[in-house]
Amino acid sequence: NEIYLNGAFVAPEQAMISVMDRGFLFGDGVYEVIPAYAGRPLRAAEHLQRLENSLRGIGLQAPLSLPEWSNIFVRLLAAEPKMDQALYLQVTRGAAPTRDHRFPAQPAPTVMAMAKPMKARDRAVVEAGVAVVTRDDIRWLRCDIKSTSLLAAVLLRQSAQEAGAEEAILVRDGLALEGSTSNLFIVRDGQLMTPPKGPLLLAGITRDLVLELARAAKIPIQERDIAVEALRQADEVWISSSTREVMPVTQLDDKPLGSGRPGPLWRRVDALYQDFKADLRRA
Ligand code: PMP
Repeated sequence: NEIYLNGAFVAPEQAMISVMDRGFLFGDGVYEVIPAYAGRPLRAAEHLQRLENSLRGIGLQAPLSLPEWSNIFVRLLAAEPKMDQALYLQVTRGAAPTRDHRFPAQPAPTVMAMAKPMKARDRAVVEAGVAVVTRDDIRWLRCDIKSTSLLAAVLLRQSAQEAGAEEAILVRDGLALEGSTSNLFIVRDGQLMTPPKGPLLLAGITRDLVLELARAAKIPIQERDIAVEALRQADEVWISSSTREVMPVTQLDDKPLGSGRPGPLWRRVDALYQDFKADLRRA
């Protein structure tokens, strides 16, 4: 399990960065998580495009080209060619001589990537559905940047954990936007709804894939604001992320949601998602 760090593949014990790294001092960096099935990254181009958007959002040049990233992924995934793995990549503004909030004149970004095993989801958990809790969205106003400054998300997810829930659904001005580490979907009268992209949520790659699969299956879709009351009254609620896929939610703030069981539309879309993965594995 080598780690890619600034142009070299090294053992984890050798993968070291300076305490002056701005990622460490300020959380001044961006990242991506890319699921890979049997060595094949899912939607790598889309993840790398989002990385570029995040880099632009923090005023950093892209340190590597798309083919350079691809070569790194191939090498990182090759150690376990049959396994499902998650690629993690991170770019920070690097180390500077002094701790100064202002950008260094000549930034030398720290570029890191690694692969870790992704365990298959627990069928029993998926069949039962997960519990979520609502929380005030205490994050900043650029949630479209996939930043390593994750303190608000850390506190929110921990708060969900302590409430016995899988995820915290974040509410700002009466609207349910997304989870602390996932996007949000609801179903009402056969319509699939998810909040529109914008600065207040992360444009999830899984979100886009779910919309694409639903559209191809002629499931009606609306990208629109979801009031927290609409969330409570939904027939179905799902969360999505690269590592969770599409997960049904059956409990909200300690009360059963919808039928209290994973819903029929979730079953359809999940089957489409599983087929998409199976095709990727065979590709
Ligand atoms: N929103 C937030 C805040 C997230 O952290 C994540 C997962 N990293 C997502 C949404 C889901 O994004 P993706 O589907 O690309 O994993």
